Amino acid sequence: MRGLCALLLVLGFAQAGASQDRVVRIGVLGIFHPRHLTLASYEDGDLVLSADGRQVFVRPRSSCNTADLRASGDRLVIRCGEYEIRTAELRANGRNQQATELVLGIPGKIKRRYDGILDVKAKNGEVIPVVEMDLETAVASIVEAEAGLEAPLEALKAQAVVSRSYLVAGRSRHAEFDFCDLTHCQFLREPPEMGSPAAQAAAATRGLVVTYNHKPVAAMFTRSCGGDTRTPAEIGLSPADYPYYSVRCEICYKDPVRWTRTLSREDAALLVSHGEKGRLTIDRKLGWDAVPSNNFTAQEQGSEVILQGSGQGHGVGLCQRGARSMGRLGSDFRTILGHYFPNTTLESLTAK
Ligand SMILES: [Zn+2]
Ligand SMILES: [Zn+2]
Repeated sequence: MRGLCALLLVLGFAQAGASQDRVVRIGVLGIFHPRHLTLASYEDGDLVLSADGRQVFVRPRSSCNTADLRASGDRLVIRCGEYEIRTAELRANGRNQQATELVLGIPGKIKRRYDGILDVKAKNGEVIPVVEMDLETAVASIVEAEAGLEAPLEALKAQAVVSRSYLVAGRSRHAEFDFCDLTHCQFLREPPEMGSPAAQAAAATRGLVVTYNHKPVAAMFTRSCGGDTRTPAEIGLSPADYPYYSVRCEICYKDPVRWTRTLSREDAALLVSHGEKGRLTIDRKLGWDAVPSNNFTAQEQGSEVILQGSGQGHGVGLCQRGARSMGRLGSDFRTILGHYFPNTTLESLTAK
């Protein structure tokens, strides 16, 4: 009997470990630094809030149809109908602690629908919402947000595999959650409609990841590469477990996306000394796309520096523009991934 118990315990742990990998915690709406959020169920779904040992049901036609969440220092103040709860954290889910569709809003700014379990904390007067979602829901949502509308399905499938690989292997960039919803990690908004190209791309590649030496690769991607993809070393980033290779990208090589920018000497100095990190520093300071890529020539002109460059993004890994072009010319997603990630294989998470 004791042996059986031990066995069950081991099996239990093994299963928990496996399901843990299929869930990702995504910090959402952080770019707005919200102090106040609204939370409601989507359509008629169930939404249960648990906080401070109490449970509150948020229902469309009741006095508690939308919860109001405000930060007060490191405490969260929840108001809904006649309820008022002050707490350190809140969890919101559907029936039986399951994921559910919910709508988070920042009054006057934005409303977004998510499918998952929501955890909310407050920190320094800011509300920090984190959506725990199924890996495949996250993949489909990222493909929907990241890929161009007119992308062929095979390019979307390649993006789905790359995004899934990153979600599985790249969890170390944030303290409070696994990933943010910005290009810092991967852009994520709402889950796509059922049957949409993004949903199809995720479903058709379900569980597939890029592996190197049988380990999932935190696969990187870029909007366009400028002609040849880069290695992390070339742009001053520390080497990854997967070495990456510089590969020729036909469409960007023949017809790169070119750009020109003018910077002050002071800002330009950051670029020269810090490579890709310098570029991101400038983008943070001057806005997204201030310096579109790290592939450029610089020319001093009075107190300014003129940059002429090509490509968009860091240039490492999958080129999204190149993948679309390959897809249009008839390549399937395996060929696209093989091209941008030489010496890797595709493996299924479910088979492990
Ligand atoms: Zn991030
Ligand atoms: Zn390219």
